[in-house]
Amino acid sequence: MRLKDKVAIVTGSGSGLGRAMVHRLSEQGASVVVADIKQESIDTVVAELQQAGRTAMGYKVDVTNRRQVQDMTKSVAEKFGHIDILVNNAGIVRPRPWLTMDDADWDAVIAVDLKGVFYCVQAVAKYMMEQKYGKIVNISSVAGTGAAPFGGGGSPAGNGNYSSAKAAVIHLTKTLARELGPHGITVNCVAPGFVVTPMTYTTRTKEEAEKHIESRKKACVMNRAGKPEDTANAVLFFACDESSFVSGQLLCVDGGRIDRM
Ligand code: NAP
Repeated sequence: MRLKDKVAIVTGSGSGLGRAMVHRLSEQGASVVVADIKQESIDTVVAELQQAGRTAMGYKVDVTNRRQVQDMTKSVAEKFGHIDILVNNAGIVRPRPWLTMDDADWDAVIAVDLKGVFYCVQAVAKYMMEQKYGKIVNISSVAGTGAAPFGGGGSPAGNGNYSSAKAAVIHLTKTLARELGPHGITVNCVAPGFVVTPMTYTTRTKEEAEKHIESRKKACVMNRAGKPEDTANAVLFFACDESSFVSGQLLCVDGGRIDRM
């Protein structure tokens, strides 16, 4: 058990990659907080975890709301007495061709994918600094490491808002690693490649999604889509003490993306 007696908050863990993360971290002994914006998803994942004999707490939170994030953090600290791991995973996409992207598209993605990280780290780091221990893992995307092909392979449009937020998360990881490292906190980043999750279908028709899945498979040397567990395994590495001398790093979990090598 790599995470015995540890407490982990994973944002956006009512679905997709986050759901796999809470399963993986709790399997290794962590008590996990399923933090998500949708109560129904939270209840489903908490029930799955409890049925498997894990310790799980659900918390409905909008990561773009500073007060809600602070209240969640306080509740978790009061319940468990400490917060050891924070995974900033909540994210949304709103692809739009650049000239049609409006303020709402831009602001929504920046708010969840970047500002949410700001709020969560600021709230949780306070507790981690007091205990002189913490592991923060930010979820970026390979989209934050270089521009994706525009509109091809089932992608309906451009993703200037999303790739900007995800690139910023990579850089923020390095800045936070420097600032929080002296307090015993490591900060690392995982950039998943393409993984089939509910997000795959939020902006595409079923046919577009299938076309997109096929094109993404061909874009990596492993010739397959990622599984949520692939990302969860990388998160586990950064969350456990086997990575205690690793900070400020980016790990791409993308099956060897040909256009990123
Ligand atoms: P997902 O299935 O849509 O899960 C994201 C979760 O975050 C959902 O439960 C969502 O709730 C929740 N969420 C959205 N806005 C929130 C907010 N303001 N506060 C709290 N929770 C919120 O997506 P996913 O594919 O698992 O993605 C997880 C992370 O991995 C994201 O950061 C994403 O950018 C990143 N990523 C994914 C891929 C991929 O191929 N899937 C690739 C690279 C990076 P709702 O369902 O109610 O919106």
